[in-house]
Amino acid sequence: MKDLLADLIALQNVELEIYKAEEGLKQSPKEIEEIDSIITARRRALDAIDEEIASAEERKVPLEAELNENQAILDAADARIKRIKTNKEYLALQREIDLAKKRKADIEDTILSIMDKIDRKIVERERIKQSFESDKVILEDKKQKLHDHITELEAIRDENKGQDERLRKGVDVTLLSKYDRIKQSKKGLAVVACIDGVCGGCHMHIPPQLFNELVRGDRIINCPVCQRILYANTSPEDV
Ligand SMILES: [Zn+2]
Repeated sequence: MKDLLADLIALQNVELEIYKAEEGLKQSPKEIEEIDSIITARRRALDAIDEEIASAEERKVPLEAELNENQAILDAADARIKRIKTNKEYLALQREIDLAKKRKADIEDTILSIMDKIDRKIVERERIKQSFESDKVILEDKKQKLHDHITELEAIRDENKGQDERLRKGVDVTLLSKYDRIKQSKKGLAVVACIDGVCGGCHMHIPPQLFNELVRGDRIINCPVCQRILYANTSPEDV
């Protein structure tokens, strides 16, 4: 009985290594993808702020042209006012000048508020850029570690693959099919130690009578709670 279980435990050790490696190989690419999407989102935030700055600069262009036109109107009015003869003409021109001055002040206000916005966006951009640059170093480092981890896991998987087939041939057929059935639902852990009557899989106590039977080693004992195959010893070498 003990030899039967020893072969099975050896097989389980190899299969668990393969299982853990394969689980990691499923998980790590997802984590890399998450990091990539964080980097992409940060880049997009920078692009968005660049676009805001560019569109504010664009809005300034026609206003500056209008300001120049307005100045030309004012200059022309200044030249004309010296040649004016009647009070009526003077008042009309003065009204024109007042309107142009008002318009000039309005445009200047708008341009100032746009420039103010641009300044704030530039500060914000710098803040985002700096935090992105320092975070990027950490994120790229994490990514590299995940790539290394994948390489390690692939090596572990490849190293253990093949060994499992060889070990399978050495395990009793009935026991093997029992093991295969249980491991499906137990994340690969189908054989566990039962220490002082406690199942190493589900951590529940098994009835004392059953534990005694297990220690005697006359037959294969399953945990009544989790159905895993039990062995009575604290270390696998004693099996
Ligand atoms: Zn159990």
